[in-house]
Amino acid sequence: MPFRAPVTDFQFLFDHVVDFANVSATERFADADRDTTEAILLEAGKMVDEVMAPINRNGDLTPAVLENGVVRTSPGFADAYKAIAEGGWISTGASPEYGGMGLPHTITTAVNEMMAAGCLSLQLNPLMTQGQIEALEHHASEQIKATYLEKLITGEWAGTMNLTEPAAGSDVGALSSKAVPNDDGSYAVSGQKIFISWGDNDFTGNVCHLVLARLPDGVPGTKGISLFIVPKYIPDEAGNPGVANTLGVVSLEHKMGLHGSPTAVMQFDNAKGWLVGDAHDGMKCMFTMMNNARLGVGGQGVGAAEGAYQMALEYALERKQGRTPVEGGGTIIDHADVRRMLAGMKADIFAARAIEMACAVAIDMGTATGEKEWKARAAFLTPIAKAFGTDVGIKVSEDGVQVHGGMGFIEETGAAQFSRDVRVTAIYEGTNGIQSMDLVARKLMDGGDAAYALLDEIEDCAEKVRESMADLAEPLWQATETLREATEWMVAQGNMNDRFAGSVPFLRGFARVLGGYYHLRAAIAEGGEGPRSKLAKFYIRRLLPEHAGVLVHAMQGAEDLYAITAEDLGAA
Ligand SMILES: Cc1cc2nc3c(=O)[nH]c(=O)nc-3n(C[C@H](O)[C@H](O)[C@H](O)COP(=O)(O)OP(=O)(O)OC[C@H]3O[C@@H](n4cnc5c(N)ncnc54)[C@H](O)[C@@H]3O)c2cc1C
Repeated sequence: MPFRAPVTDFQFLFDHVVDFANVSATERFADADRDTTEAILLEAGKMVDEVMAPINRNGDLTPAVLENGVVRTSPGFADAYKAIAEGGWISTGASPEYGGMGLPHTITTAVNEMMAAGCLSLQLNPLMTQGQIEALEHHASEQIKATYLEKLITGEWAGTMNLTEPAAGSDVGALSSKAVPNDDGSYAVSGQKIFISWGDNDFTGNVCHLVLARLPDGVPGTKGISLFIVPKYIPDEAGNPGVANTLGVVSLEHKMGLHGSPTAVMQFDNAKGWLVGDAHDGMKCMFTMMNNARLGVGGQGVGAAEGAYQMALEYALERKQGRTPVEGGGTIIDHADVRRMLAGMKADIFAARAIEMACAVAIDMGTATGEKEWKARAAFLTPIAKAFGTDVGIKVSEDGVQVHGGMGFIEETGAAQFSRDVRVTAIYEGTNGIQSMDLVARKLMDGGDAAYALLDEIEDCAEKVRESMADLAEPLWQATETLREATEWMVAQGNMNDRFAGSVPFLRGFARVLGGYYHLRAAIAEGGEGPRSKLAKFYIRRLLPEHAGVLVHAMQGAEDLYAITAEDLGAA
């Protein structure tokens, strides 16, 4: 059974769980009515099924390579990219002024997730371009917009994001790349960047690098960083790719997975670039791109989980092994433990996808209304969507291998590829540890207002069905109270390291409870009877209880961690 994009699941979420109708009801997004949305999702799903999913193995088996300084991409990738670009799937959310569709970010996020399920390594390319488009729309001069936006939006050119350096990973402020003003208003950008996704390709007319570097008067740390657009080919007077810039791919990384995506070491030697945004304001500009990408990477996790799940389900329906307790049953899907794995995979995909979509809806509502509550909700949900979405991707794809038994370990089935490909999503775009620290520090700087607003919403919903759906509503209400206490504990900690010591389990607990809420809403929409209600029951009974353990862990502070010294951990 080939991959089928989960279009109906998105439509169900939009209609019944994340209130997408509120987005369509705004003036800004009035065109995104239900019929339009459904048609777009169906069309995107078809492209993913027919174009992207069939080339996924190519990327794994025939990785991108560097030949005489030129990146050669995996078989079929160039044609698939062309189909993505021609379909307008790079630019669903981009401004119509430059040829984009101006659709809500929720649609873009759903389409991106489907594309990630089809072929994660190729999808990373347009994801980077989308972030670049957004950063330029918000921060670039009119001249830069006129030169670059249309070509990025049509996919004629691609965009990359250059932050990481050998000594500047999570700590971007430690970077040493430099930019010196030229006489003509441009800058000479020099330095080495590592791990640059899609640093080059053989299917777009130009590759535009957004590069973080420090001006001569830039102070040390993040405050002294500026952002530059540095194209592979310098656009000529007419805006066409002109002379080659002084930059290039030094080498490609040999990776655990995601082989179809060339991950490059980039060298910039006085390469010609142009400032984006104000001098020394690079981190603010880059954050526009990173926030977009963070949610996008969360969606990559969910997408990979979907691909892994569909493959595991198909195998479980075909593989016969042992006697099962189900009369007439004969394949491994009828073994309790296999059923447990598949139900867990499906329930977690639903929870993570709902969080991802709720975050996207909050982004759209913030854009359309300008209301600070929506913006705060979007900001609060972004690290959760990123970290939980990618953790679910890793767990579900691992379970996908397990469902296959020995065949899961054999590369031929493709089950292992999902697991290897998705592993990096918990690392790039800010590790999940960094996401969690953001959640308990910056995202609780409002004294917990955004968090409590969410908890109130969950409790209101649970209250309404406390009698009619007691088996679901009661445990969810209790879990929300436990989470409220943990949130209060976090807010009360003046020493940030005490928060950080429990940030990962706190984020996990928050995601677990949010997942319970969205499952409850799905069950309510179904009137408590049907497959979604059964899945909600499974989630709330079996997966939600994890919140209690992780939230205890979250509230321990840092002292006991540091009581275990480096020597205790085995240092000489
Ligand atoms: C396949 C791939 C593609 C990538 N694509 C890009 C790209 O396109 N552009 C780009 O710029 N970068 C890219 N990256 C880089 C990626 O974003 C970094 O690898 C990531 O940010 C982590 O940095 P690091 O590898 O230096 O790890 P480190 O920062 O050294 O982190 C190591 C460990 O320490 C933890 N840690 C670090 N600092 C702290 C802290 N303050 N508090 C608590 N824990 C901490 C981390 O969570 C991690 O567990 C890519 C990486 C890979 C592997």
